[in-house]
Amino acid sequence: MLSTKPVKSILNKHKKRDNWFLDDYSVNPYDGCSCNCLYCYIRGSKYGENMNDRLAVKENALAILEKQLHARAKKGDYGIVAVGSATDAYMPHEASYKITEAFLRLLLKYRFPVFISTKSTLITRDMDLLQQIDKTAILPADLQGSLQRGVILSVSISTMDENICNMLEPGAALPAERLNILKELKAAGFLAGVNAIPVLPFISDTEKELQKIIAAARQHDADYVLTGGLTLFGSDKADSKTLYYQFLQRYDAALIKRYDALYQGNFYPPWQYQQQLKARAEKIAATLNIRTSIL
Ligand code: SF4
Repeated sequence: MLSTKPVKSILNKHKKRDNWFLDDYSVNPYDGCSCNCLYCYIRGSKYGENMNDRLAVKENALAILEKQLHARAKKGDYGIVAVGSATDAYMPHEASYKITEAFLRLLLKYRFPVFISTKSTLITRDMDLLQQIDKTAILPADLQGSLQRGVILSVSISTMDENICNMLEPGAALPAERLNILKELKAAGFLAGVNAIPVLPFISDTEKELQKIIAAARQHDADYVLTGGLTLFGSDKADSKTLYYQFLQRYDAALIKRYDALYQGNFYPPWQYQQQLKARAEKIAATLNIRTSIL
């Protein structure tokens, strides 16, 4: 049984649209995430080393979401809503709690478009609901010409190596399972692709490893592959940098020096690294004829 947590607000409006995912809003049905990815940006003392311990359902979320969607819709303030930006909306608890499903019903009622990225197979449960949103959502005016549909779906993959996934993403489905879901979503007619975010420096950022991810995306009919670098925060025992470095120690301790040299005490790798990663991914994607952006 999850604990419950009251909230004052649930629909977060971004200052500007997300460049990658095109969302203008985000909603999070759960507080914390049982996928427990070591690199997760929400990591920290608030959730602890095992995020299952403090996972909570937002008890009054539905009433608040309805109120906020109603107010935004009344003003015509439509925008894409990322469902699960700081949690996986389809982590295993969702099978019984069905909060994400209830959120989607409200988003359908108020005709808001949706973006979802997941590492879970449960998303297929809501395909009917998502198809209705896809057909009936009202897009923000500046996306009406280019998008013309109400749902964007991604599966997230940082590496194709199952051993590394088991170490880094202990509560998530394996990459092959995520890719099978992608294929199902595509067969059902959705705009869907792969978020290769975060790509792992010196592990999955090489030409060979990126090729594996992008080729797998192509083989499973992805419309796009998005790539992005790894951020690492903090020095407390539940922070992502601490947990990720513990993973490096177990996986290949020689990488620690290389990470220290790359990050130089910063949260993110240098701009030049990010540009090289982008160029590498774009080159591979071009040869495989797959987009590196949603549009
Ligand atoms: S699935 Fe996403 S939100 Fe959940 S732990 Fe992993 S990175 Fe964090």
